[in-house]
Amino acid sequence: MAKIEIINGTMSVPSNPTIPFIKGDGVGPEVTLATQKILDCAIAKAYSGERKIEWMEVPAGGSAFEKYGTYLPDETMEAFKEYHIGIKGPLMTPVGGGIRSLNVALRQGLDLYVCLRPVRWFKGVVSPVKHPENVDMVIFRENTEDIYAGIEWEQGTPEAQKFYAFLRDEMGVTKVRFPETSSFGVKPVSIEGSERLIRSAIQYALDHNRPSVTLVHKGNIMKFTEGGFKKWGYELAQREFPEALASGRLTIKDCICDAFLQNALLKPEEYSVIATLNLNGDYVSDMLAAQVGGIGIAPGANINYSTGNAIFEATHGIAPDIAGKDVVNPCSNLLSAVMLLEHIGWNEAGALVEAALEKSFSEGYATADLARFMPEGKPMKTSEFTEHIINIISAQA
Ligand code: NAD
Repeated sequence: MAKIEIINGTMSVPSNPTIPFIKGDGVGPEVTLATQKILDCAIAKAYSGERKIEWMEVPAGGSAFEKYGTYLPDETMEAFKEYHIGIKGPLMTPVGGGIRSLNVALRQGLDLYVCLRPVRWFKGVVSPVKHPENVDMVIFRENTEDIYAGIEWEQGTPEAQKFYAFLRDEMGVTKVRFPETSSFGVKPVSIEGSERLIRSAIQYALDHNRPSVTLVHKGNIMKFTEGGFKKWGYELAQREFPEALASGRLTIKDCICDAFLQNALLKPEEYSVIATLNLNGDYVSDMLAAQVGGIGIAPGANINYSTGNAIFEATHGIAPDIAGKDVVNPCSNLLSAVMLLEHIGWNEAGALVEAALEKSFSEGYATADLARFMPEGKPMKTSEFTEHIINIISAQA
């Protein structure tokens, strides 16, 4: 089996890399099948049969539990470490203790500190805004810190009372309005955690000829955590990328998150790469995805730019209501796979898929979730849509 190697930070990709994949639960197997068929076709076409992905299934989720008695077997985590790059369909949330979320377990286990979400509009896709074509942003959301670190205590528990007693007695905190009935959460934001995220965003902007990185934060209120993120971001840019700044090749700016959400609607063309903390990033990603009409087709990836490890994934859930009905839109998973191709430098194959989607959507051919809003929409089953995209790719010059 040919492996992608990462030596001293440089990725070496064989012509037939093995890529581990998790099929996923619910609609996962359907979107995975569609994605692999389309990718195989685009790669064969782009490189005249000289490159090919060797797909290697690894277990996770409900089917893994039935077979192995665990939702996330060790071999799956090992495979992602060993092969560096993987892709996953959506996974159910385990019930009954243990792992809270399989996605979080994978991100933490591999320290995938960037949640990367590119947001662009495809002609033909109906959007709630007048000029969705002006939205072209890439969001770098910090994935490991912030109020999402999972450090919290429920009101009324001895732990919450102990925590409040510490705040009051040791730290002199008198500002908790209803201390007896408050739950508490802790928001860790570190220099290293912020810097590695912002460094990745700046490097991405330079590599992709993007004009600016905007630090999105609430530092006006949370001065040391969100304010720290902003301050460390500007300092890092000055220290590590002075030439790009001095030459005007790159601009670093910042925006308070609530203002950013307004501006992103009113003047989205002013923003390119966004670097933000975990909670802000969660809101910003979904708002921007909806703005291009594409929450169901928004792609995503979780990446550690230091080790090179990355998992690409559909951003929607397992959609149990439509599973097995041949109606799911495979594009979120498919466009995540296009990100994977770009990540390993197979841009030509990714471009073929994007061009095929553009043609299909602009002619009204899409799965029902998108086609029903298009004026000339022609709803297709998942399997029909997959064949349609393959036919367009095959016919491209
Ligand atoms: P969901 O995304 O599964 O579904 C929300 C609605 O959107 C449903 O009506 C569904 O039919 C529709 N939908 C979602 N994806 C679609 C697609 N590709 N094409 C057409 N329609 C689509 O969200 P939910 O109902 O909140 O979550 C269901 C389950 O999925 C939960 O167990 C949750 O934990 C899990 N989940 C997993 C992930 C992940 O693995 N990344 C993400 C979110 C939710």
